[in-house]
Amino acid sequence: MLARHAEPIVAVATAPGRGAVGIVRVSGQRIDAVIEAVCGRPLAPRHASYLPFLGSDGETLDQGLALHFPAPNSYTGEEVLELQAHGGPVLLQLLLARCLEAGRGIGLRLASPGEFTERAFLNGKLDLAQAEAVADLIDASTEAAARSASRSLAGGFSTEIHQLRDELINLRMLVEATLDFPEEEIDFLEKANARGRIDAVAAKVDSVLSMARQGALLREGIKVVLAGQPNVGKSSLLNALAGAELAIVTPIAGTTRDKVSETIQIDGVPLHVIDTAGLRELGESGDEVERIGIARSWAEIEAADAVIFLHDLTRRGEPDYEAGDARIAERLQAHHAGSDRLLHVFNKADLLPADAALPDTDDEDAAVLQLSAATGAGLDALRRKLLELAGWHARPEGLFIARSRHVFALRRTREHLLEAQAQAALADAALDLLAEELRLAQNALGEITGEFSADDLLGEIFSRFCIGK
Ligand code: GDP
Repeated sequence: MLARHAEPIVAVATAPGRGAVGIVRVSGQRIDAVIEAVCGRPLAPRHASYLPFLGSDGETLDQGLALHFPAPNSYTGEEVLELQAHGGPVLLQLLLARCLEAGRGIGLRLASPGEFTERAFLNGKLDLAQAEAVADLIDASTEAAARSASRSLAGGFSTEIHQLRDELINLRMLVEATLDFPEEEIDFLEKANARGRIDAVAAKVDSVLSMARQGALLREGIKVVLAGQPNVGKSSLLNALAGAELAIVTPIAGTTRDKVSETIQIDGVPLHVIDTAGLRELGESGDEVERIGIARSWAEIEAADAVIFLHDLTRRGEPDYEAGDARIAERLQAHHAGSDRLLHVFNKADLLPADAALPDTDDEDAAVLQLSAATGAGLDALRRKLLELAGWHARPEGLFIARSRHVFALRRTREHLLEAQAQAALADAALDLLAEELRLAQNALGEITGEFSADDLLGEIFSRFCIGK
């Protein structure tokens, strides 16, 4: 029995469905048997050979291009065979079955999702951040996200992490060498400018962290919740932002029952807008479906990057309406929607005189905007404000894609460096504690590129890929 990672694998690499070309990919050691059987002869390395693909009884299944990439110069770092056939789903399944049959002797099996890229990672062709960028490039929902993923795949992000790691290793060597000479400890912090060097690494981590945060925003998008009483225009605003008829806009209170989510983009940043059910106070006799919708809305609010609290300019001053808004404001507070991510938006400005003043809110720190979902006036200011609230300040050019996982790892690196800085600042600094914090900082960094990654993390990452990648 071969270990799982040593077994040869095969999969259809192209998307399911009909297409001009479909590709079957084989990777592993000793795949010559498959090449001989399916192509009828050995293949010149890295040359496209046009030939018949042979079935088990020698009949031609299709004519196409066969490519052989000998190890280690292939995507996976193993022997790779690529068969480019016509892109018919049945034909590709026939070819796949034929390869499996021809490779039975060498233990050829179907690849699991992401297994080709996992092999590339295990064989040192890509580091973990680059492997993730492969998936992010395929899944990119905006042009900016695709360009940034491509930059990460080329090593843009990994290079930054490697530089940080090298600086940390140098510092650790310095500190650990001095540990053996206790009498020189205090002197050492002065002489080698250890404090200055720790500060410099910490500053660099800050700057990479800020870029990674932008990269993660580009990949994961901004989550925005629309909250407000029924009929203030939440569905209309969502439609206006998306530029399409999405939610059912109706003047009957309480009819937007379920959340409706739509992804749009602002400056290339995906924006997931969630329209909430009307947040009415319901008594015990209230409708069950509506109550579930309301509970879900509050859960969304807690997880959002920004909350738009929508008000209706035409109903201001009405006691019922003001009481409804006050209750929502109170609940927003209770659900941690503090003024740092709260946006008061006054809708239906088209129904007021053009020179009407911006209304006051009790919440002095929260942003206040006025607009009309019906005419679109004021929407651009809202889009800009949303980007600002989510912390987007980069331009997509030159950015690399990143994931929350990377941001968390960088934050942990930063925390250990803070500890190291605090220790180094003490008059009687303990160098062994300093050395330990630097080691932990390096480990946290190593999780990004996969130098220190648990197997379950790898499984989690690669299982989200498509089959054949
Ligand atoms: P929701 O219950 O908060 O989702 O509110 P809707 O989007 O269903 O809107 C309620 C009513 O207000 C509808 O009749 C809309 O046409 C109307 N409405 C929404 N926005 C505006 C606006 O900016 N101006 C005007 N004049 N009417 C609006």
